[in-house]
Amino acid sequence: MSSQNVSRRSLLAAGGLTAAGAAGVLGLAAPASAHPTEPPAPTPTTALNRLIAGNKRFYKGDARHPHQSLKDLHDLASGQHPFAITLGCADSRVSPEILFDQGLGDLFDNRVAGNIVDDLLLGSIEFAIEEFGVPLIVVVGHERCGAIVATIDAIENGGEAPGHIGTIVEALRPVVEPLVGGPGDVVEAAVKANVLAQVQALFDQSEIVREKVHEGALGVVGARYDLDNGKVTLVG
Ligand SMILES: [Zn+2]
Repeated sequence: MSSQNVSRRSLLAAGGLTAAGAAGVLGLAAPASAHPTEPPAPTPTTALNRLIAGNKRFYKGDARHPHQSLKDLHDLASGQHPFAITLGCADSRVSPEILFDQGLGDLFDNRVAGNIVDDLLLGSIEFAIEEFGVPLIVVVGHERCGAIVATIDAIENGGEAPGHIGTIVEALRPVVEPLVGGPGDVVEAAVKANVLAQVQALFDQSEIVREKVHEGALGVVGARYDLDNGKVTLVG
């Protein structure tokens, strides 16, 4: 599938967020809470807004570190209701709870170097969708990703990565290879292309994702994290 299609699909998913919000969630809003003080269930739009607001607190130096007390731990011991699923890189600088200023029970994290969808991670993501009704998946790539750099190096210089590292390089190769030798910052272009490719892979490989997005119950967005200033920006 062309990158144009990837882009369109990604935008479609993001556009769905806006439409759902504007239309008062089109009958997909949380059912009236039995408990008047209980907040309404998050929608794709409110979940994304919550992440964006948390990231803003983080990069402005106003992080609240919510839901990280012993009381939160005890409250969550019997169950969880995460409001977003992340697919991010294992890089030590891109911990989702920190860069989105969230806490225990908020995010269902899936992390692997290069933020790549495979069968195991897809099973994990689908589990969160089915089990907890999570309304948002965000694929988080990041600036100067080492997995991307290693893949570019393997393409440019040949040779094989040791051990199982080659599995990551080979998974990224189809996304990265067309960009090598091109103009501009190839690492940056590949980071963004990979985010879009993994968003597309979620659609292509998961019937559950496709159905939930079609119903308006799930949004899927791609994002890039800036290592220099801490900002997360949507890609698509
Ligand atoms: Zn990385």
